[in-house]
Amino acid sequence: ILYDHVDVTQVLKDLLPMISSEALLHNVVVDWEVESRAKPVMADREMLKQVFLNICKNGIEAMANGGILTIKGRCRTEEGRSMVAIEVQDTGDGIQEAMLEKIFDPFVTTKPSGTGLGLSVCQRIIHEFGGTIRALNRKEGALFVITLPCIEEPR
Ligand code: ADP
Ligand code: MG
Repeated sequence: ILYDHVDVTQVLKDLLPMISSEALLHNVVVDWEVESRAKPVMADREMLKQVFLNICKNGIEAMANGGILTIKGRCRTEEGRSMVAIEVQDTGDGIQEAMLEKIFDPFVTTKPSGTGLGLSVCQRIIHEFGGTIRALNRKEGALFVITLPCIEEPR
């Protein structure tokens, strides 16, 4: 693990070309709502890329007939601590109810040739950097919310 000060919104921006071309192949439109700058978090840039790519790929795969992938990134304060929140929402069928509890477990998949490893790796990485990752169903599709704590500024 190569720790560094990372601007998460910049990491997302670096991935945009890759996400967009994957989306285009699947008739998916990307709705980009990422702030242009965020306070740094302490993390490994490449590992974060892997997380966001995995989550976005899952979202795109969940929309067999196309749809909208909304990617949000912004800073927020929770209980006096700054964090970066990343939200990825799709307009697919949502997460199967019986799966909601276990999608972060390794080898859990509903895909014929899925490995079921994506989300378990994502969770391990996010926890490593002191963050949280949650999956929710919305009226339409699934929503993944990731938070990462920002580096506290000395004062
Ligand atoms: P894989 O993609 O190989 O199946 P993951 O760990 O990435 O493994 O995902 C595990 C399971 O979680 C998927 O098989 C699917 O059932 C569910 N899942 C993940 N993302 C979504 C999503 N955006 N919409 C619906 N279901 C999802
Ligand atoms: Mg996956």
